[in-house]
Amino acid sequence: MRTTKLPSGESVPVLGQGTWYMGDHPSRRAAEIATLREGLDLGMTLIDTAEMYGDGLSEELVGEAIQGRRDEVFLVSKVLPSNASRNGTIAACERSLRRLGTDCIDLYLLHWRGRTPFAETIAAFEQLQDAGKIKRWGVSNMDVRDMQELARASGGEAMATNQVLYNLTRRGIEFDLLPQAQQRGLPLMAYSPIEQGRLAHYPEVQEIADRHYATPAQVALAWVLRQQGVIAIPKASSVEHVRENHAALKLELTAEDLEELDAAFPPPDGPEPLEMI
Ligand code: NDP
Repeated sequence: MRTTKLPSGESVPVLGQGTWYMGDHPSRRAAEIATLREGLDLGMTLIDTAEMYGDGLSEELVGEAIQGRRDEVFLVSKVLPSNASRNGTIAACERSLRRLGTDCIDLYLLHWRGRTPFAETIAAFEQLQDAGKIKRWGVSNMDVRDMQELARASGGEAMATNQVLYNLTRRGIEFDLLPQAQQRGLPLMAYSPIEQGRLAHYPEVQEIADRHYATPAQVALAWVLRQQGVIAIPKASSVEHVRENHAALKLELTAEDLEELDAAFPPPDGPEPLEMI
């Protein structure tokens, strides 16, 4: 598995597994657990969840899927901004740990910016680190100005990632957020890398996929993964999809492919507001 480095120097896989909407339907549970375990077998050991997903159902599903395999996993979860006060963050993390069936989260993120000052949430993250309940902390859905403010906040330099929307149809971060993160050695985590499945249906992507005997989802993932310091976390709920996504690591897009994709999905030519799903 190709890896990238966190600012602290540890390596993490560039291809992980998302879990939004997983755990919502009892009838799909067995297939979802089998998919996450297949992903682990393939080396997609970074698993992303959040207290928000299914109001804890996703974390419970992840907990079940990683039972007996906790040591293999780089576990990411998120606190809601409405819980991100000093005590609220600690209580939310403890609830997440119970649902996940573990005593430590590898990377704990602030899901998006709320009303709590950054310094207060960071102080809670530091307390959780001191107690051994999280290994590192990061943020999600933060734009360039948020990142500047975070860097100035007390303890802000310890941030391990910013998880943001990034795919062929959402390229705004290429203008500023992405190059700035690359420059300071901060990996970005690209969420919705297949645009929630929609990128599987663009003829321009299909055409390139056909040339490589690949699928459009694989082209979408290979395109995100071409960037240095970017981690993609596609969500798959079938073994077929997770295998297909893993195989995208071997797909190398040519200069001609990239040119065609730029024509169909133009890069930003100026700053754009950060998009969110
Ligand atoms: P994705 O771009 O990962 O797309 C998921 C969809 O694509 C599902 O419908 C899935 O279908 C389908 N899919 C997966 N693999 C394939 C394939 N090989 N071929 C065709 N279709 C495929 O969207 P998500 O929004 O789920 O984003 C990924 C993860 O990022 C989330 O699950 C979550 O963990 C995180 N996230 C974080 C956010 C944040 O605010 N921080 C916001 C949104 C997402 P199926 O399920 O049937 O396999």
